[in-house]
Amino acid sequence: MDLFLSIIIFILGLAVGSFINMVVYRTAIKYKLKKNLKSKVKNINKNRSFCDWCGKQLRWYENVPVLSWIMQRGRSRCCSTPLPREYPIVEISTGVLFLLSYQLSVTSYQFILNLLIISLLVFSLVFDLKYMILPDGANYCLIILALILLVGKENYWTYLLTGISSGLFFLILNRIKIRGLEAMGMGDVKYALFMGLFLGFPGTIIAGYLAFVVGALVSVILLVLKKVKRTDPIPFGPFLILGTGVARAWGEKIINMVNLIR
Ligand SMILES: [Zn+2]
Repeated sequence: MDLFLSIIIFILGLAVGSFINMVVYRTAIKYKLKKNLKSKVKNINKNRSFCDWCGKQLRWYENVPVLSWIMQRGRSRCCSTPLPREYPIVEISTGVLFLLSYQLSVTSYQFILNLLIISLLVFSLVFDLKYMILPDGANYCLIILALILLVGKENYWTYLLTGISSGLFFLILNRIKIRGLEAMGMGDVKYALFMGLFLGFPGTIIAGYLAFVVGALVSVILLVLKKVKRTDPIPFGPFLILGTGVARAWGEKIINMVNLIR
């Protein structure tokens, strides 16, 4: 029974991951970060899925998460355009995260809210990696979900305080400009507010600390490998989101470990 439920949850994750890939694509069009190829194709049924490149309507079997990608060897069936490798990666990651959340959630109410939060976080992470923007829509939804999770919590005010403080801290970072460029975007500031509301204290410190350490390490590695130039901006949102996930899932264990070392 438990195994059966786990498989269902994983498949649900794959399907949501596939949906996230589509929402990333459509949001990029909305932000005018991508050309809308579909507008060239006439008589399109908006409720159906279609090829991102030639606009042809997809059949159901071209739209199965991961499997279609493998069966079609990473190319679209209609026009043989190579499909981004991120598609199956996003789908499988969402599936794994859904399973992890199932293991870690105490009540089914928590579980459902966590699934919503995970979906929004995966979306924001992918979008920021690709386009250097943490979209407002996702941030506002995350803030509302974090506030809903606070209802009934005895120490809700510590979460509120942590949220406001972490938002303000990132707002100060946002005012600092390096070579005329913002080091932190306003998307990061709104995200930091969510992070504080969601993780509270000391979870937010753990998440922020991990984000800065891992972010710095990855930046140095990318510089050494000459994958980026010194002046290239690197999005910070993905590191904040990874930190949030780790702090939420293993925050208490990390605190216990730090206390042991002391
Ligand atoms: Zn096509």
